Amino acid sequence: MQAEARSRALIIGAGISGLAAAWWLEKAGWACTIVEKSPSMREGGYIVSISGSGLETVKRMGLYEKLDEISYNFDENVVKDNGGRELLRLRYKDVHGGVDALAVCRDDLARVLANAISESVAFRFGDTVVKIEDDGTKAQATLSTGETLEADLLIGADGIRSSTRNYLCEGNKCLEDLGYTYAVYDIEGQPGLDSDCVSFNSPGHLDVLYTLRNNRVAALHIWRDDQTRLQDKQSQFDKIRHITSGSTKLVTDVISLAERNGSTPVVDRLTMVSLPNWHKGRVLLLGDAAHCLTLMSGQGAGMALASAEILGKELMSTNIVATALSQHERKLRPIIERLQQRSRKMAAMYIPKNTFMYHLRNFFLRFMPYSWIVSWHASSAKSEIDSTLS
Ligand SMILES: Cc1cc2nc3c(=O)[nH]c(=O)nc-3n(C[C@H](O)[C@H](O)[C@H](O)COP(=O)(O)OP(=O)(O)OC[C@H]3O[C@@H](n4cnc5c(N)ncnc54)[C@H](O)[C@@H]3O)c2cc1C
Repeated sequence: MQAEARSRALIIGAGISGLAAAWWLEKAGWACTIVEKSPSMREGGYIVSISGSGLETVKRMGLYEKLDEISYNFDENVVKDNGGRELLRLRYKDVHGGVDALAVCRDDLARVLANAISESVAFRFGDTVVKIEDDGTKAQATLSTGETLEADLLIGADGIRSSTRNYLCEGNKCLEDLGYTYAVYDIEGQPGLDSDCVSFNSPGHLDVLYTLRNNRVAALHIWRDDQTRLQDKQSQFDKIRHITSGSTKLVTDVISLAERNGSTPVVDRLTMVSLPNWHKGRVLLLGDAAHCLTLMSGQGAGMALASAEILGKELMSTNIVATALSQHERKLRPIIERLQQRSRKMAAMYIPKNTFMYHLRNFFLRFMPYSWIVSWHASSAKSEIDSTLS
C-alpha cells in the first residue's frame, strides 16, 4: 500500500516565526520548505526577553534548558539622564517579581530553533518568492530563480516589511506608524559600561547599551521624528550621530566604534501591523508580518512562538486547512489586540516628547521611593504577561 503523501508547507522567512512554524508543522506531520532571502541565518542583533505564553511554548518544545544555558542574567538597568547622571538603578529581580523570563540574543534563539527542527525541513537561502497564486486546491509560489513550488499552505513569516502581505493587503494600508525610528546594532569592544544595562534618557530619544558575551556591546537608539527614510549606512549613522549629539560621551564613543568597526545597524520605524484577516485561502501571515507589535511590547518573538504552536496544534486536529487557519486566528487575535493597545501607550512613556516632560519624568525617577517605582514596573510586567495568556 502506498504511504499517504504528507501535506506541504512553504514558509517564507527563517526568522523566529518561520522556524517555529516549521518545528510545529513537522510535528503535525507536514513537510516544510523555508525560503529565506539572506544567504544564511541572520547574525547579530539584540536581546529579546521571552516570557508568558511564548516561554510556555519554548518549554513545550523542550528548548527551555538550551535557551537557559545561553541566556543573559542581567542584574539591573541603570537609568541615567543625557548628561550621564544616575537617576535610578532598577534591579530586574525586583521588577520581574518572580515572573519567569529568558533574555536571549535574537540570533541565538533563531539558531536554537533551526537546530531543533528536523533535517527533513528544506532550506533555500538567498532566495525569495516573487509571485503567489492560489487555485483553491494548492498555493503556487514562483521563486526569484523562476522555479515554481506548490504547497497546501503558504506561510508569510517574512517580518515587518513582508512582501507576502501584499497578497492580503495592498501597500501601507495596514501599517500604523507610531512616530519613532529605532536603530539597533552590536559592536566588539568594551566602552566602559558601569552595569550590564545602561539607558540614557533625552527629550525625544532614548539610548540603551547592554553588555553581551564575547566582548560585545549591543546598542539601541529610539527617537521621535518625521518619516525620513534612511536608505544607506552612512545616512543612518549621520542621523544617529545627529540625534545623540547632546548625549553623554559613552554613547557617542559607542557610535564611533560602531562606525569604525563597520557595524550595520538595523534601522526601521516603530510600525504596527493591523490586518482584518491574517489568512486568505491557503496563504497565511505569521509573526511580525501579520501583527507586528513593535519592540515596545517586548512580546513580538514570544507571540511568534506561541502563534506557531497554536497553528501546529490546529493542523494536528484537522486536515482542513481553512478550518485550522480560522481557529488559529480566533484564538490568537484577542491576545494580539491587547498587546497592540499596550505598545501604543508604552512608546509615549519611555520617550518623553519634550523638555518639560523629560525633566518631570527624571524628577520622579530620582525622588520617588524605589518601592513605588518597582511596584509600578512589576504590575506593568505582570499585565504584559497576563495579556499574552488567553
Ligand atoms: C530592538 C528590538 C528588541 C526587541 N525585543 C523583544 C523582546 O524583548 N521580546 C520579544 O518577544 N520580542 C522583541 N522584539 C520583537 C521580535 O524581535 C520580533 O517580533 C520577532 O523577531 C519577529 O519574528 P519574525 O520571524 O516574525 O520576523 P523577523 O525576525 O523579521 O524574520 C523575518 C525573516 O524573513 C526574512 N525575509 C524577509 N523578507 C523576505 C522575503 N521577501 N523572502 C524571503 N525571506 C524574507 C528575513 O530575512 C528574516 O530572516 C524586539 C525587536 C527589536 C527590533
